[in-house]
Amino acid sequence: MRLFNLAGNVAVVTGGNGGIGLGMARGLGEAGASLVITGRNKDKNKTALEELQKLGTEVCAVTADITDLESCRRMMAETMERFGRLDILVNNAGTNIRRQPQEYTLEEWHTVINTNLTGAMLCCQLAYPLMLKVGHGKIINIGSMMSIFGAPFAAAYAASKGGIVQYTKALATAWAKDNIQVNAVLPGWIDTELTRRAKAEIEGLHERVLARTPAGRWGIPEDHAGIAVFLASEASDFITGSTITVDGGYSIQA
Ligand code: NDP
Repeated sequence: MRLFNLAGNVAVVTGGNGGIGLGMARGLGEAGASLVITGRNKDKNKTALEELQKLGTEVCAVTADITDLESCRRMMAETMERFGRLDILVNNAGTNIRRQPQEYTLEEWHTVINTNLTGAMLCCQLAYPLMLKVGHGKIINIGSMMSIFGAPFAAAYAASKGGIVQYTKALATAWAKDNIQVNAVLPGWIDTELTRRAKAEIEGLHERVLARTPAGRWGIPEDHAGIAVFLASEASDFITGSTITVDGGYSIQA
């Protein structure tokens, strides 16, 4: 279907070597986009690359740390060398350090904010001139239930994920004139490496998530393939600055 066809488009997915990022990359690849996936871990990059190549689309993996400006520059330069264009950016790489608010060291705080918020900002700034060149662009930022709610163990994470929603709105207003749409996706509780750690560390979390989620299950990375395709495609050309939950109803449960 033309509206959702991404053939000829090039997408960079940060943190595309696992979890939600890989789920989104799969969707984008199946819709015909060429893919650049990034992460710091070379082995994870290689495994994800091999998996995505099976889709029959062009894929490359770049080892990059999005908290580092030079690393982000290299990621975009390699994208241009390999594919010569950039149409879609998914700012998905993220991390969490669980502490009571009074316990964060400055270094821990910076790690979370730099990965989840500043890293996305660096990638957006570098993507902007490349999107201007092709005359359009789609930016998908990943928020969280912590963009809406608070939790005692997630002060830094919630600050970064609340920030990404407001950052999304600011970019959307600035770049609409350039035909660049910027939206945020807020996943619910999704079974990935990140939450497997949380499940092990927070007693009763698994049961609480199940009880509160109307869909009656944890999400899986594949649940994010459809929203990625929608927000990357022509189908969403008049949607910008939005936040869309992908949470099985978690956030509307009273
Ligand atoms: P994972 O831990 O499975 O994936 C995180 C990804 O980010 C990995 O690919 C990791 O790759 C990459 N990454 C982390 N730090 C950096 C960095 N400094 N530079 C480059 N890449 C980095 O977690 P999820 O898939 O769960 O998380 C993906 C996104 O979704 C995050 O933004 C997270 O906050 C968000 N989210 C997740 C939810 C969930 O329930 N799972 C709920 C709501 C939001 P590598 O290790 O190779 O660097």
